[in-house]
Amino acid sequence: MKLIYRQIALAPDVPRQYAVDAAVKKAASRGIRACSASICRISVDSRKKNDIKTVYSVLVEAEKADINSIKRSGADIYAEPELKITYGDNERNGKIAVIGFGPAGIFASLMLVEHGYGTVIFERGRSVSERAADIKKFLQSCVLDAESNIQFGAGGAGTFSDGKLITRINDNACNYVLQRLAGFGAPEDILYSARPHIGTDILQTVIADITKYLTDKGADIRFNTKVTSITESSNGVIIKTDAGEELFDAAVLATGHSARDVYKMLYNNGIELQKKPFSVGCRIEHLREDIDVSMYGPDYYKYAEYLPHAEYNLSHRTEENGQSRGVYSFCMCPGGKVICSSSETGGVVTNGMSYHSRDGQNSNSALAVSVLPDDLPSDVLSGIEFQRQIEQKAYSVSNSYNAPCQTVGSFLKGKKNEITTVIPSYEPGIIKADLHTVLPDFVCGYLKAGLYEFEKKIKGFSADHAVLTAPETRTSAPVRILRNAERYCVKLKHLYPCGEGAGYAGGITSAAADGINTAVKIMSVFKPDKI
Ligand SMILES: Cc1cc2nc3c(=O)[nH]c(=O)nc-3n(C[C@H](O)[C@H](O)[C@H](O)COP(=O)(O)OP(=O)(O)OC[C@H]3O[C@@H](n4cnc5c(N)ncnc54)[C@H](O)[C@@H]3O)c2cc1C
Repeated sequence: MKLIYRQIALAPDVPRQYAVDAAVKKAASRGIRACSASICRISVDSRKKNDIKTVYSVLVEAEKADINSIKRSGADIYAEPELKITYGDNERNGKIAVIGFGPAGIFASLMLVEHGYGTVIFERGRSVSERAADIKKFLQSCVLDAESNIQFGAGGAGTFSDGKLITRINDNACNYVLQRLAGFGAPEDILYSARPHIGTDILQTVIADITKYLTDKGADIRFNTKVTSITESSNGVIIKTDAGEELFDAAVLATGHSARDVYKMLYNNGIELQKKPFSVGCRIEHLREDIDVSMYGPDYYKYAEYLPHAEYNLSHRTEENGQSRGVYSFCMCPGGKVICSSSETGGVVTNGMSYHSRDGQNSNSALAVSVLPDDLPSDVLSGIEFQRQIEQKAYSVSNSYNAPCQTVGSFLKGKKNEITTVIPSYEPGIIKADLHTVLPDFVCGYLKAGLYEFEKKIKGFSADHAVLTAPETRTSAPVRILRNAERYCVKLKHLYPCGEGAGYAGGITSAAADGINTAVKIMSVFKPDKI
């Protein structure tokens, strides 16, 4: 049986083995003999700035023991999360289509292919190596490829990211996602770190390995193939691309939050969409060391080599006219960079990324303000237009993909917009500008309220020399593609929308988990080709 011992707190410089030994000793103190023991979770507790702790959970594989001894030893019985899979008996005529090769599409494909369902994967973008070359070319030439960029291509939006795998959802599929990513070459510590991250350098190789694995397993992956229409047929779904039309038994729609043409196509085809809250704002950057010291306190220098670079999570809600609205930090990238995440010509979009080492000079995060459905015209696609206008305004500041940038001192207090200590990391480049000319007034108002609040939580957070780069418009999907409990579209029975673009997930792990659960649903309806 497996027992889990939690909350074993040690000074950061104490070797991990001490935690394992402590758990085995606790078990032995109640007559429980450990066969093996390993660390299953590591987090850092820096609430007491002069007493930072690394906190461990340890899994002990033990011979059978009675519940009282287990409890008295301070452990709980550990049950490995598992996926429940059943196969349906609906006859199959053809294959299953997966549209979009981001985390949701990738993990849906892994499930389908490994359980014997013939699968065709459509991806409008290119393979990961071609995509990396396209992004490099964009940063040199500032000519955007609208089909191969930070949003579109193998691995989806998450490939050129910090690759943070944190999620708030509690789903057995999340453990499966981490296990598989580690199996495809992600660092092993994602399996036990409380704040797992991969980094874009390793993520690109992971995506390449998954692509090869699926291809070797018989999946038909079609890069550079954009799906332009999806319609119903009596015995399935018809997928249209430039190459023609094909009939599939079912289709997973995992096209992400930036496939604005897909939302338009679905809308025109009568698929039910719904406005949903999303957020816009900007990126804030500080010196990484300043954030590390503010978060860990003066002991940071004593333990620096044993501590991950600090992450923060900030939020502030206020009521206005009976409406609750939030400003919060989002997608924090310690030791990372701010990058251009545009996917439409003539629009600037910011986001963050880092390499696995996270050893960049700055740390950054998005500061986002919630946009509520009532803030926008009734048109269900008005959120997309709202985002687009901000992106185009930002582009028009310099008629280029250089991003408008302002110091916090200038934004808050009208001081001279002078870059000093913190050098903006955004590529291809920045243009000094007043962000009030780019972001809506209510967004600027809430950003200011947030900055004053966050300074109380993290000293120096709103220092004059911190820099803001805008606009961060693609924090989540502004539209939900309605699906029922069986996970398909009411108006198109064989279409299964999932992931971030469908409005049911946010972030790499939760999008991947949604892809898995959607594939499991399809498998419970249809017979596999082969078992
Ligand atoms: C720069 C950046 C950094 C990020 N950092 C993190 C992070 O550190 N941690 C985290 O959890 N999340 C992060 N995110 C968010 C995360 O990437 C997304 O939440 C996640 O990728 C959503 O997965 P998805 O599969 O639903 O959609 P996507 O990843 O958006 O994938 C959709 C795929 O569908 C393809 N597609 C779209 N339209 C079509 C079509 N018509 N035909 C065929 N293919 C199509 C696209 O090309 C794309 O590859 C980041 C996002 C960005 C842009």
